[in-house]
Amino acid sequence: MSDEPDRRHPEPVSIDDEMLRQYLADALSAENSARVEKALRDSAELRARLEDVRQNRGDAQLHTLGAIWHRARLTCPSRQQLGSLLLDALDPELADYYRFHIEVVECPFCQANLDDLKAQSQATPEGRASRSRQHRILQSSQHLLGEDKR
Ligand SMILES: [Zn+2]
Repeated sequence: MSDEPDRRHPEPVSIDDEMLRQYLADALSAENSARVEKALRDSAELRARLEDVRQNRGDAQLHTLGAIWHRARLTCPSRQQLGSLLLDALDPELADYYRFHIEVVECPFCQANLDDLKAQSQATPEGRASRSRQHRILQSSQHLLGEDKR
Protein backbone atom coordinates (compact mmCIF):
# COMPACT_ATOMS: atom_id res chain seq x y z
CA MET A 1 0.00 0.00 0.00
CA SER A 2 1.08 3.54 -0.56
CA ASP A 3 1.67 5.88 2.32
CA GLU A 4 2.40 8.75 0.01
CA PRO A 5 1.14 12.04 1.40
CA ASP A 6 -1.85 13.55 -0.32
CA ARG A 7 -0.24 16.08 -2.59
CA ARG A 8 -3.40 18.03 -3.12
CA HIS A 9 -3.25 19.16 0.49
CA PRO A 10 0.38 20.01 1.09
CA GLU A 11 1.31 21.07 4.56
CA PRO A 12 1.87 24.79 4.74
CA VAL A 13 5.58 25.31 4.38
CA SER A 14 7.24 27.80 6.59
CA ILE A 15 9.17 30.10 4.36
CA ASP A 16 12.32 31.47 5.90
CA ASP A 17 14.68 34.11 4.62
CA GLU A 18 17.00 31.50 3.21
CA MET A 19 14.20 30.14 1.11
CA LEU A 20 13.39 33.64 -0.10
CA ARG A 21 17.04 34.13 -1.01
CA GLN A 22 16.99 30.93 -3.00
CA TYR A 23 13.78 32.03 -4.63
CA LEU A 24 15.45 35.29 -5.70
CA ALA A 25 18.43 33.36 -6.95
CA ASP A 26 16.15 31.02 -8.86
CA ALA A 27 17.60 28.10 -6.94
CA LEU A 28 14.37 26.49 -5.83
CA SER A 29 12.63 23.58 -7.45
CA ALA A 30 9.62 24.54 -9.53
CA GLU A 31 7.38 23.14 -6.84
CA ASN A 32 8.95 25.17 -4.05
CA SER A 33 9.08 28.22 -6.25
CA ALA A 34 5.36 27.88 -6.83
CA ARG A 35 4.82 27.54 -3.09
CA VAL A 36 6.78 30.67 -2.37
CA GLU A 37 4.85 32.60 -5.01
CA LYS A 38 1.61 31.33 -3.62
CA ALA A 39 2.60 32.33 -0.10
CA LEU A 40 3.69 35.73 -1.38
CA ARG A 41 0.29 36.25 -2.85
CA ASP A 42 -1.39 35.45 0.44
CA SER A 43 0.85 37.43 2.73
CA ALA A 44 1.74 41.10 2.61
CA GLU A 45 4.15 40.47 5.46
CA LEU A 46 6.02 37.92 3.36
CA ARG A 47 6.14 40.29 0.41
CA ALA A 48 7.75 42.88 2.66
CA ARG A 49 10.25 40.28 3.83
CA LEU A 50 11.06 39.37 0.26
CA GLU A 51 11.78 43.00 -0.44
CA ASP A 52 14.03 43.09 2.65
CA VAL A 53 15.89 40.00 1.62
CA ARG A 54 16.28 41.34 -1.87
CA GLN A 55 17.76 44.62 -0.66
CA ASN A 56 20.11 42.84 1.70
CA ARG A 57 21.49 40.51 -0.88
CA GLY A 58 24.15 43.05 -1.65
CA ASP A 59 25.67 41.21 -4.55
CA ALA A 60 25.96 42.05 -8.20
CA GLN A 61 23.14 39.75 -9.13
CA LEU A 62 20.62 41.77 -7.25
CA HIS A 63 17.23 40.96 -8.59
CA THR A 64 14.66 43.65 -8.96
CA LEU A 65 11.06 42.59 -8.67
CA GLY A 66 10.75 43.43 -12.34
CA ALA A 67 13.56 41.03 -13.11
CA ILE A 68 11.84 38.35 -11.12
CA TRP A 69 8.65 38.76 -13.04
CA HIS A 70 10.67 38.76 -16.20
CA ARG A 71 12.31 35.52 -15.13
CA ALA A 72 8.89 34.13 -14.30
CA ARG A 73 8.18 34.32 -18.00
CA LEU A 74 10.52 31.38 -18.37
CA THR A 75 7.97 29.34 -16.49
CA CYS A 76 4.98 30.53 -18.50
CA PRO A 77 2.35 27.86 -18.97
CA SER A 78 2.11 26.48 -22.47
CA ARG A 79 -0.79 27.43 -24.70
CA GLN A 80 -2.26 24.01 -24.10
CA GLN A 81 -2.08 24.52 -20.35
CA LEU A 82 -3.70 27.91 -20.70
CA GLY A 83 -6.45 26.24 -22.70
CA SER A 84 -6.96 23.73 -19.91
CA LEU A 85 -7.07 26.61 -17.46
CA LEU A 86 -9.93 28.16 -19.43
CA LEU A 87 -11.76 24.85 -19.38
CA ASP A 88 -11.18 24.37 -15.66
CA ALA A 89 -9.41 21.15 -16.51
CA LEU A 90 -6.30 21.75 -14.46
CA ASP A 91 -5.27 20.55 -11.06
CA PRO A 92 -6.65 23.28 -8.74
CA GLU A 93 -3.24 24.04 -7.31
CA LEU A 94 -1.69 24.43 -10.73
CA ALA A 95 -4.63 26.53 -11.87
CA ASP A 96 -4.07 28.72 -8.85
CA TYR A 97 -0.44 29.15 -9.70
CA TYR A 98 -1.21 30.12 -13.28
CA ARG A 99 -3.92 32.53 -12.19
CA PHE A 100 -1.38 34.11 -9.91
CA HIS A 101 1.06 34.29 -12.79
CA ILE A 102 -1.52 35.92 -15.03
CA GLU A 103 -3.58 38.05 -12.67
CA VAL A 104 -1.07 39.09 -10.02
CA VAL A 105 2.21 38.95 -11.88
CA GLU A 106 0.24 40.17 -14.90
CA CYS A 107 2.46 38.42 -17.37
CA PRO A 108 1.67 40.25 -20.62
CA PHE A 109 2.57 37.25 -22.74
CA CYS A 110 0.17 34.92 -21.00
CA GLN A 111 -2.53 37.55 -20.86
CA ALA A 112 -2.29 37.99 -24.61
CA ASN A 113 -2.26 34.25 -25.15
CA LEU A 114 -5.24 33.80 -22.89
CA ASP A 115 -7.24 36.52 -24.64
CA ASP A 116 -6.48 34.84 -27.91
CA LEU A 117 -7.59 31.45 -26.59
CA LYS A 118 -10.77 32.93 -25.17
CA ALA A 119 -11.64 34.39 -28.54
CA GLN A 120 -10.99 31.02 -30.13
CA SER A 121 -13.01 29.03 -27.63
CA GLN A 122 -15.98 31.29 -28.22
CA ALA A 123 -15.80 30.52 -31.90
CA THR A 124 -16.04 26.75 -31.53
CA PRO A 125 -19.00 24.95 -29.94
CA GLU A 126 -16.66 22.38 -28.39
CA GLY A 127 -14.57 25.09 -26.85
CA ARG A 128 -16.75 25.62 -23.87
CA ALA A 129 -20.05 24.54 -22.43
CA SER A 130 -22.55 27.14 -23.48
CA ARG A 131 -22.79 29.67 -20.74
CA SER A 132 -24.15 32.78 -22.25
CA ARG A 133 -26.79 33.78 -24.73
CA GLN A 134 -24.09 35.32 -26.82
CA HIS A 135 -22.36 31.98 -26.97
CA ARG A 136 -25.54 30.23 -28.07
CA ILE A 137 -26.01 32.75 -30.83
CA LEU A 138 -22.50 32.03 -31.98
CA GLN A 139 -23.26 28.31 -31.90
CA SER A 140 -26.51 28.62 -33.81
CA SER A 141 -24.76 30.55 -36.53
CA GLN A 142 -22.14 27.85 -36.80
CA HIS A 143 -23.95 26.08 -39.65
CA LEU A 144 -23.57 29.20 -41.71
CA LEU A 145 -19.88 28.48 -41.61
CA GLY A 146 -20.45 25.05 -43.11
CA GLU A 147 -20.58 22.93 -39.97
CA ASP A 148 -24.17 21.76 -39.55
CA LYS A 149 -24.44 19.80 -36.34
CA ARG A 150 -28.10 18.74 -36.40
ZN1 LIG B 1 3.52 34.14 -18.59
